[in-house]
Amino acid sequence: MIGIGRALLADPDWANKVGSDKATDIVRCICCNEGCVDNVLNRSFIACVVNPENGFEETRFIMPAQMKKNVVVVGGGPAGLEAARVAAKKGHSVTLFETATELGGQLHIAAVPPRKNEIRRAIEDLVHAVHTQGVTLKLGQTANIQSILALEPYAVIVAVGASSFIPPIPGIDGKNVYDAWQVLAGKYKVSGRVAVIGGGVVGCETAEYLATQGCKVSIIEMRDQIGSDISVTVLPSMLENYKAYGVEQYTGYMVTSINSGEVSCEDKNGSIAQIPYDYVVIASGARPVVFDTEALSVKGIEVVQVGDCCEVADISYATKSAYDAANAL
Ligand SMILES: Cc1cc2nc3c(=O)[nH]c(=O)nc-3n(C[C@H](O)[C@H](O)[C@H](O)COP(=O)(O)OP(=O)(O)OC[C@H]3O[C@@H](n4cnc5c(N)ncnc54)[C@H](O)[C@@H]3O)c2cc1C
Repeated sequence: MIGIGRALLADPDWANKVGSDKATDIVRCICCNEGCVDNVLNRSFIACVVNPENGFEETRFIMPAQMKKNVVVVGGGPAGLEAARVAAKKGHSVTLFETATELGGQLHIAAVPPRKNEIRRAIEDLVHAVHTQGVTLKLGQTANIQSILALEPYAVIVAVGASSFIPPIPGIDGKNVYDAWQVLAGKYKVSGRVAVIGGGVVGCETAEYLATQGCKVSIIEMRDQIGSDISVTVLPSMLENYKAYGVEQYTGYMVTSINSGEVSCEDKNGSIAQIPYDYVVIASGARPVVFDTEALSVKGIEVVQVGDCCEVADISYATKSAYDAANAL
């Protein structure tokens, strides 16, 4: 007897695929707990971030297209890949543009911190699916209005994602001040005392990652607690690691300036803290990437935005919004 738990939420056809020698088509669980275990603990409905149909089997299923249409997808993160997969599975002819030379979007950096490696499975499985469905991939190509119009699309699904937000703090453009996304991507190396500005998911995970790499990390967060948006099943392990690695937390502190060698911050009572640093890492959230959808819709093309460019959220929203938009074509 073989027991399978979360993996069946990610792919209810797990056993059938193994039985019919199609194991490479299995959509694998990424062990995030976000849709399943967390929802059970929060007394909410079970869902799966990599399987938009999970929990909606009666209403969400891929309907074959009445007529084959030309569909262009802009962006190859999870939203764009899921949109392309679903549109192609319906029978449409799909072309996907991705600026980078590899597909996956933010998932590449999301997979870097401790316990996040399984996110790579989502990249691999979505890429496998678009290949299997015969999506035409234009990698290393930034889509613009001309390149999209040249393909004469009936519909365009815009999935251009988000970019890291850099707040207007005095000194933010100083030496040794980097953006968490670039640090996780390995573009910049930091060491010694690191002050991480922002204690949301990205800040907390980057802090933990840098602590495990030998840095002496401090997190500065203006809210009263860090990691308020982190999975309740993950946060305790992260806090244990913070304790083990001596990560310091300055909660309720707003950064007022980044000076040479010190970050100045102040709490709501006016108490000031000066945090010494060798490097500062900014993790202050993300903003949607703007795409000129109007230039396409005035030409009579159906345009829909999905994923982070519509609303900065998470993998669950990216895949579900993409699935629904593509399935409606
Ligand atoms: C460090 C980090 C950790 C995270 N951890 C989690 C997590 O644990 N769980 C979770 O649910 N979510 C997590 N997220 C959030 C999640 O990764 C995003 O919500 C998700 O990737 C959004 O998907 P997307 O496809 O909308 O956008 P993106 O992933 O940003 O992909 C957009 C893609 O569009 C491409 N693009 C942009 N403009 C063009 C153009 N004109 N032409 C062609 N291509 C273009 C970009 O190059 C990019 O590849 C994390 C994010 C970060 C940064």
